Amino acid sequence: MTIPKPLSLSILATLLFTQSSRAQVSVKMHTLTGYEDYESFAYAACEKLQVVLNSTRFKNAVRQGSFTRTNGLTSQKIWEKIMNAHEVQGPGGKDSVVDLHARIITIEQDGTRWINNCKPGSWAGTIGIDGRGDGVTAICREKLKKFYDTKDTASLAGHYMHEYMHMLGFSHPGFRKSRSAVYKIGYIARDIIRQGI
Ligand SMILES: [Zn+2]
Repeated sequence: MTIPKPLSLSILATLLFTQSSRAQVSVKMHTLTGYEDYESFAYAACEKLQVVLNSTRFKNAVRQGSFTRTNGLTSQKIWEKIMNAHEVQGPGGKDSVVDLHARIITIEQDGTRWINNCKPGSWAGTIGIDGRGDGVTAICREKLKKFYDTKDTASLAGHYMHEYMHMLGFSHPGFRKSRSAVYKIGYIARDIIRQGI
């Protein structure tokens, strides 16, 4: 079967367009504190997150998404801000690099309230602690273990994406079902990995 010329040309044009419009961002985990046996799992999540961020599916999902707590930006501008990767919280780093730092929540650093919130079945259902301006993403040990045990790289990557949105200056109300850009874009990243990138 021969493909009509205009069609083959349009396929070529689509391929070229896809290549040239692929803004490249990389994900770098600079420090992992207290992760112990879970370090390679965390790096694997970062690798997946990098693929997601550079994917057309992510681009389309964000650009077509509708969010609250947008800091006055359109969905297109939010996507551009993510791809620009200029952190406003924490130590920052290079633009076009998603600069991450992560640690485990500890009783010494975070106190008993957070340790209790981390307990499975707690009312708070805490996964991690929002950046709090220091740019270091903190996660409950129990949650990290659960993600690891269930090979759920997608949820860990989604957690990093959520926290990264905070580092870009976005916030959310204190409940998980919010339509905020922080929550929804964290879930977009997670779901793209779950569905297979
Ligand atoms: Zn948050």
